Parts: sequence; C-alpha cells; structure tokens
Amino acid sequence: MAERISEDLNAPTHQLRGVGPERAAQLARLGIHSVGDLLLHRPSRYEDRRHFARIADLQLREASLACGKIVASGVKTWKEKTRSVYEFILDDGSARLHCRWWNLPYMEKYFSVGDTVVVYGKTVSIRPRTIDHPETEIIDALDGSIHLNRITPIYPLTDGLQQRWLRALIWNVLLRFESAVAEPHPEIRVNDLPTRANAIQMLHFPKDSNDAEIARHRLALDEFIEMQLSIQTRRKNLESRARTSPCAGDNHLIRPFLAELGFTLTGAQTRVLREIRKDMAGPHPMRRLLQGDVGAGKTVVAACAVLMALESGMNAAIMAPTEILAEQHWRNFRRWFEPLGLGVELQTGSQKTASFGKDSSGDPPGQSRLEAQGRTARPACSNCDNPSPLTINEVALPSRLEACSTLYIGTHALIEEAFAPERLGLVVIDEQHKFGVTQREELVRKGAYPHLLVMTATPIPRTLGLTLYGDLDISVIDQAPAGRGRIKTFVRQPTSLPKVWDFMRDKLRQGRQGYIVYSRVEDTGSTAGLKAVVHEFDRLREVFAPFKVGLLHGGLKGAEKEAVMAAFRANQVQLLLSTTVIEVGLDVANATLMLVENAEQFGLAQLHQLRGRIGRGAEDSFCILIAEAKTAEAKSRLKIMQETTDGFRIAEEDLRLRGPGELLGRQQSGAPPLRFGDLAQDREWIERARGLVQEHLRSKI
Ligand code: ADP
Ligand code: MG
Repeated sequence: MAERISEDLNAPTHQLRGVGPERAAQLARLGIHSVGDLLLHRPSRYEDRRHFARIADLQLREASLACGKIVASGVKTWKEKTRSVYEFILDDGSARLHCRWWNLPYMEKYFSVGDTVVVYGKTVSIRPRTIDHPETEIIDALDGSIHLNRITPIYPLTDGLQQRWLRALIWNVLLRFESAVAEPHPEIRVNDLPTRANAIQMLHFPKDSNDAEIARHRLALDEFIEMQLSIQTRRKNLESRARTSPCAGDNHLIRPFLAELGFTLTGAQTRVLREIRKDMAGPHPMRRLLQGDVGAGKTVVAACAVLMALESGMNAAIMAPTEILAEQHWRNFRRWFEPLGLGVELQTGSQKTASFGKDSSGDPPGQSRLEAQGRTARPACSNCDNPSPLTINEVALPSRLEACSTLYIGTHALIEEAFAPERLGLVVIDEQHKFGVTQREELVRKGAYPHLLVMTATPIPRTLGLTLYGDLDISVIDQAPAGRGRIKTFVRQPTSLPKVWDFMRDKLRQGRQGYIVYSRVEDTGSTAGLKAVVHEFDRLREVFAPFKVGLLHGGLKGAEKEAVMAAFRANQVQLLLSTTVIEVGLDVANATLMLVENAEQFGLAQLHQLRGRIGRGAEDSFCILIAEAKTAEAKSRLKIMQETTDGFRIAEEDLRLRGPGELLGRQQSGAPPLRFGDLAQDREWIERARGLVQEHLRSKI
C-alpha cells in the first residue's frame, strides 16, 4: 500500500520551516494561527507584474505600477529638522519617477542606489513625475517565479511582517499542502467552478486576470454552503423531531378581544394571523418571522397569537429589547387582557422574576413604588384558591387552566435562569433585530418546544433573509392601517435650527407632540455623554418654553423612564428629548414631530426606525433631519429618507452603503464570519448555495 503523506491543515504555523515564535505571533495578529488560515489569507489586491507601465506614460492622478532602478536618493529636512522628506528617483529607461515619503526619514534605511524596485501609487505631479508614499517592493535578481513576471498577490500585513516574506511563505505552503485541501462536501457538486484546492491556488497566484474572482466565487460558495447546511439542518431536525402542543385555540378569547379593540384588522393582519394559526395548530413548533414596517400593527397580531396559546391552556411570553417597550406592551396587554380574566406579568431587569402563581399582594418590602403598585397584574383566580404551580394532571381541566393562563412580558430578564414558566406554549420576540440568534434560542429552550413568533420592522433584503432567517418561515404585513396621516421628511443644515424650532412650536401650539433625538451620545450611560444630553436638555427647555420637555435616556432607572413616558403619553410633556432608546416600538399617536440632530451619524435603517415613531395618528407628521452633510455621498444618503418612506428600499440602500452590520443587528453571533462571501453582493451565490443544500438534504432522506 502506497504510503500517503497526510499534511495537516490544522498544524500551527510555528511548525512551518522559517516561522519562529516571533513570526508566529505576527501571523496571529492577522488571525492566522494554522496552515489552513494561511491558505485562506486573502490578498487585498493584485499587481500585474507581467507588464509595468512605462514611467514616461504615467498619467496624473492615476494609480499605476512601475518598475525601475534607483538612481539617486536622499533626505531633506527643514524647520530645525522637525520636517523632512525622503525621496528616491527611479529610472526605467523611459523616464524618471520621484518617490517621496514625508516625515518618515528612516525610510532611507530601506533603499540603496542601484536597487530594482516595484512601486505602486497615484501620480501626484507630472513635472517631475512624482508619487507620494507609494507601496514598494525591492526586487531580487533571483525572484523570478514568486514575486515577478506574474499577477502578484499583495497581502494585508502587520507591523514587522514583510510582503515578500509572507508571499514566499504562502508559496511554499501551497506547494506542500495543496494536495491536503479536500472538497468540504464531495457530494455537493459544483462542476462549473474549480475545486477548492485549485481555487486556493488561483486565489494566491492567479494565472489570468479573472482567476482571482473565480476563486473568490468558489470560496464564497463554500462559506454559503456551510451556512445553509447549518440553517437547513436545524430546520429539518426541528420538523422531524420536535413535537409541541397544538395551540390554535378556539376563538373564545379572540372574539371578545377583537370586538372591544376599537378597530378592525387590516387584510394583511388577517392573512398573517391565518398563517400563524395554521402553524400553531400543527404538532411541530412554529418558527415564524413576522415582518411589517414600523406602524404596520404587529402588536395586535402578536396579541391574537398569544390568545390562541392562552385559549389552548398554555402560557405565553413576549420579549422586548428595552424596558420602555416592555412597559408599553405590559400597559396595552393589561388593558386588552384583564377584562378577559387573563394574567399579564411584567418581568424586567429591575424587577426579578416572580414565580408562577405568586401572590401579588405579598410583595416583599424594598421594591420600587411601581412594583408595589402591582406590576404583577393577576386577576383573582376564581378556580384556584391555592396559587401553586399547576401539575400535569391539571392539563385536562381547561376551564381552570384558562383562568390561570398567563402572559409574561419582559426584557432580557426572560432569558435569565430564574424565569422558568410552566407550559410555555408560545414565545414572541419583538424587534428581533435587537436580539442575537443565541438569545432567541435561549428563550425558546425555556419550554420544551414552544411555538416561536419573531417580529421585526426591519425589512429584510432577500440575501439576508436567506441567511439570517433561513430557518424561519416569513409572513409580511405589507399594508398600513387606514386613516394614517402622511410623513414628510426634510433634511436641513444646523444653521436652520432656529427656523425648524419655530415650525415645531407652531405644531405644538396646535396640540401636537414630538421627539428630539440627540445622537451625539451613544446610549451607553457614560457620564460624559449624560452631561451632554443634560446640557442639551437645559437649552431646549428654554427654546421651547412654555411647552414642557422631558428627557429620556438609557441611564435612567426603570421607574424614572416610566414616569417620563407616562407624562409624555398623557401630554403633560410635549417634547421628548431622547437618545436612541426610543428607536424601537414606541407608540404615541399624538406625536407627529421628529427632529433628529446629527442625522448623518445614523444608518438609514436606523433613521427609518426612528421616523417610525411618528405618523401613527391621523394627523400629518414631520421628520426633520439636521445634518452637516459634508460629502456628496452623505447628502445623497439622506436624500433617500426625503424621497421615500418605503422601508424596503431604505434597507436595500443601507445594505449597499454600509454592509450588513446594521441590518444584522448588534449580536448576531449565530453566523460564522465570512472571509470571501459578501452578504450585500452575493445574492446569486447565496441562492445557489441554498438550492444545492436543499437538493443535497432531500437526497439524503
Ligand atoms: P408596529 O408594527 O410598529 O409594532 P404597532 O403594533 O405599535 O406597530 O401599531 C401601531 C398603532 O396602530 C397602534 O396604536 C395600534 O393600536 C394601531 N393599529 C394596529 N392595527 C390597526 C388597525 N388594523 N387599524 C387601526 N389601527 C391599528
Ligand atoms: Mg412594535
């Protein structure tokens, strides 16, 4: 049997010849720990060193690649040697090129007259031809095959690491390890692309100008296949293994709820509810994403879904990303559910979990005033005198169960261990983009397999939908409730603020309310930041007197936030100065004004969320974005806000301009990092990976 030398791609780099501890540490700084990492170290660009530009042909302000011999060099200093320029002159036989480095006199050490140097950079002047701070590489007569006469990779580097050294290392590693690069999934065939091993070779040392892009496609496809495999397998396992209690309900609570609601559901809401009911009726847990633009009316849909679970004798939980939003939900759901004899409990960070069946009148001392007022809103449970946890036997007693069915509303507190409700039939996650995939999973693990409804106002461009939410079914509310006023958006310079204030005062006099979003502080509660908001607060109080201004930020305690919100809802406060804590979910119909300062600092998707706080009543609303848009790009970005209120268009634009980070939300730790794939641009490859994986999993049955 022929002996096979197996080269291990997981071998740490220090096992390679020529890589000592120091080099290994430098590589580690680039995220390269193993041979495999080294093979996937992606060049940041390539230089076509088969053809150099003639220095005589260099064009002003164009980036070009030239090669010549150094014929002169030296450092000039002035201002008592505090300023300097190092310069060498390169000659390629056609003309001379000056290469300069400002205030880096030590560059002199690296070059000598007579060296052959490749330089790359933008020509800043033509007489004499000059490039400032070019990228350079000294060429050795023996360099032939690796560094010269080819399309040469230029790698991201770190301090102390040289381009030539790294390139030679990768060259040698490729020679030795290329045969160890296996097809990750041999059963998934992609015949029109090179093998993974070939792709890696082409990535580093392309033979043709297209090779690098073809290689990237192959490697990106591999990443997307990995992603789809994990998404689709999870989904499949859920469908084949997980069983749950059917929770479609029997309408006996929904009917009176809808009758008292004060409005009728839109067609879109009804359609989505039908989709949800169908899922919840089945034996497998629902996994559904409900997407609806800001103000589309997702909460009512969630309420109906919750009622289906409660009608079925199960409990339900709603998780919201902020305390303010959890409070708002708690307020609404109590108003809706208490008349139906249902319990609604609030669980936020400032109030630790009350166990199921806890007697609300027996609150221990030391709780805040609000808690003492009865955050635990549990109507007297006529059928159970002893409010102890229900046992499994009691599942057979619907009438008694129903009276004890509870909706828990909370923030992250719901994923803490102490919160462990019985018979959790449905979990709703509001504003899903504010949570990570892991958090979603944690809450779901509370019940055996509860049904899951996640809601988001972030419109999801298809590429992201396929990756981030690939394991969820998607329902869309694509219709706003009738009778809403329009939202007009204006972009203004800071110098127009006084006029904007006049305009706002006018609206306040007509009885409207508004938000002022202060962006200069990240909402981290840092003291410097707080000072700035408080200062702004004083200024605005003067500007808008006699109208009342309230202040809301993440540094306030739960009860303080609640007091400010209550005053704003009651129109005792007309203007709410706030950090971005108001970004999600708030619903105050009389607020029709929104002023966003430093709007250029926000992503478009975030501005759209903020703007979603207004336009919720019958009156027209006005959103004024104050921005010092310095660049044309910044200006055109904000113009999109002026042109459209279509969240989908805004999200696509945001994805294009800023990449997926903003849309993915803060903590989407579920997905592995992509080295080659690009969520914003690779829709074609994502879809292809999805198809390949679907086919593959189907064939496995
Ligand atoms: P979002 O989808 O942004 O969470 P909300 O659920 O907060 O929106 O709904 C916004 C407002 O619209 C709420 O005050 C809600 O009561 C109201 N609303 C929801 N559905 C309808 C409807 N079908 N007709 C009229 N008003 C509605
Ligand atoms: Mg909402």
